[in-house]
Amino acid sequence: MHGMEQHDAPARRAVVCTGNAHKVHELGLLLPEFALEPLPAGAADALPPETGDTFLANARIKAHAGAAMFPDRWVLADDSGLIVDALDGRPGVHSARYAGEDATDSTNVDLLLRELSAAGATDRAARTARFACVLVAIAPDGSETTAEGFVEGHITRAPAGSAGFGYDPVFVPAGHEHTFAELGDDVKSQLSHRANAVAALRDALGLTAAEVAPT
Ligand code: IMP
Repeated sequence: MHGMEQHDAPARRAVVCTGNAHKVHELGLLLPEFALEPLPAGAADALPPETGDTFLANARIKAHAGAAMFPDRWVLADDSGLIVDALDGRPGVHSARYAGEDATDSTNVDLLLRELSAAGATDRAARTARFACVLVAIAPDGSETTAEGFVEGHITRAPAGSAGFGYDPVFVPAGHEHTFAELGDDVKSQLSHRANAVAALRDALGLTAAEVAPT
């Protein structure tokens, strides 16, 4: 913790080191004290390759590259992915490019469903999975804060729903009967891996839950 003062100051600008507008949107709902800005056009392509073996390593690669580009700003990086038990943890850190360099959300989902079939994982109990999210925040003074969050669930046998992104159409969070893509922002903001990671980050930064603006 590095003593962020809580006054009625204008929202702190923070650059989110991602080209994924969905992540910026979800983080924005969870961090109302910050005015989140995506990387400017072209800058996302200039981020170094995510060569780490862990979500934390990859989040730090993105965060420190962003901090080098924007030394006077808050910088936030999110590295996240889906861990599927029947696939020995795949796609994991390779979630974004699971189906190859030109992967799209739908080719990734198709491959995931095919691999689960090939693994003989047909029952719900055999299709358990979790999303993981690691956040790295770098303050203008260069101090780094990290946080992680998870959400348990299972993978459906066919996509359903159109909200969210990535594997949301095939992920049902524990305690629910619908996918994140069917449940939408409100539920995702309550219980997603990203919501849990932001809660831990808020705690580490000394931001209280009470500061979250009502929606
Ligand atoms: P990253 O940009 O390298 O962190 O890749 C994250 C990838 O993990 C995304 O492209 C999605 O495929 C997947 N992912 C991460 N978070 C979510 C989520 O909230 N819903 C669905 N898929 C997600």
